[in-house]
Amino acid sequence: MAHRTETKALHAGYRADPTTGAVAVPIYQTTSYQFRDAQHASDLFALSELGNIYTRIMNPTTDVLEQRLTAMEGGAAALALASGQAASLYSIQNLSQSGDNFVCSTHIYGGTWNLFNVTMRDMGIEVRFVDPSDPEAFRKASDDRTRAYYGETLPNPKLEVFPIAEVAAIGRELGIPLIMDNTAAPILCRPLEHGAAVTMYSTTKYLGGHGTSIGGILIDGGNFDWEAHKERFPVLTRPDPGYHGAVWLEAAKPLGPIAYALKARVTLLRDAGACMSPFNAFMFLQGIETVALRMQRHSENATAVAAHLAQHPKVTKVIHPSQQEGEARRRADAHLSGGYGGLVGMELEGDKAAGQSFIDNLKLLYHVANIGDARSLTIHPSSTTHSQLNAEELLAAGVTPGYVRLSIGIEHIDDILEDIDQALAKV
Ligand code: PLP
Repeated sequence: MAHRTETKALHAGYRADPTTGAVAVPIYQTTSYQFRDAQHASDLFALSELGNIYTRIMNPTTDVLEQRLTAMEGGAAALALASGQAASLYSIQNLSQSGDNFVCSTHIYGGTWNLFNVTMRDMGIEVRFVDPSDPEAFRKASDDRTRAYYGETLPNPKLEVFPIAEVAAIGRELGIPLIMDNTAAPILCRPLEHGAAVTMYSTTKYLGGHGTSIGGILIDGGNFDWEAHKERFPVLTRPDPGYHGAVWLEAAKPLGPIAYALKARVTLLRDAGACMSPFNAFMFLQGIETVALRMQRHSENATAVAAHLAQHPKVTKVIHPSQQEGEARRRADAHLSGGYGGLVGMELEGDKAAGQSFIDNLKLLYHVANIGDARSLTIHPSSTTHSQLNAEELLAAGVTPGYVRLSIGIEHIDDILEDIDQALAKV
């Protein structure tokens, strides 16, 4: 019987520890695993049998997290990583070689922007940024070296939901997989159901939910026909010299439609080593148990904050899907269900000085570089998270000088509103 997502968040991938009966997932704090005999060791390395070899590549605690998120997202396999940044890097690198390109939404996290625009360019992988409000821009920017499309479901600061279904459909026509960063919208959106080929998360945010651990994950939808577009993906269809000539599409066949996840694990993770620690995997499993409840409360509180700010005389603009109209609202309603998420943006009269003064006067909300904590958080993006972007890039990403980002938590709504009001009064 297939359970619903809220139930999978508590149960998928684990029942009880086979040796002790422990109901909580044990933290397997080990680097390595005793092989049964020489043949077993050789079979594991040859991938003719699957099993634990070394924690840089796999770990039983992390495996439960991977299975749980795979089930919740409706995917085929997952790969947990050390951070969301590592997940973004590997998501593209797994399909690309030097000289290739990918098309990316301009509405993305500032750290991802730098990773793609500077670090990956230096590696010879070209990012082509396009405005996602016109899905056809993805088609126009594509050529036969385009290996992926990339977007964020609910990108801050603009908080305009990415046209997942539209861009995924263009990609499927051309043979280009859509990778969706769903960090800000777990539970509310399952990008694979809208046609994305890969979903990624910074688990650091809502999935962990308590601001304790950095992590990331890639979930392979198992729903993209790599075989039909062989010429576009030589990295999956030609012998890999890094794994004694394995052809990943063939090697994965006995295991299921998991060529993407398998290759990422046994090549990128093996070689570059950005693995998640088992302890952090345990922390994320704890967070995921309550993520459905939290997303509901985050969304309710953020919607109330947005409505309140919209009436406030010192606030010139409020950004939250609940306040949007027209095409942006239609896309939000088509892709999100159960709420509009916990992120709210606002612009204040008086621009940068006003934004910074508001933040300095808050007493309950934390001033931090994070989102998705159970606590309410805030930051001034143009002087912090997005400060490496130039003026033109800031504008494309929607970061104006007076913009303040709020990540609304699950506290009592009256306490959140009281703190915001007293800080606004002092601006
Ligand atoms: N993606 C989004 C949408 C983010 O907000 C962040 C971090 O702020 C990241 C990716 C990067 O994740 P991490 O900080 O876990 O590396």
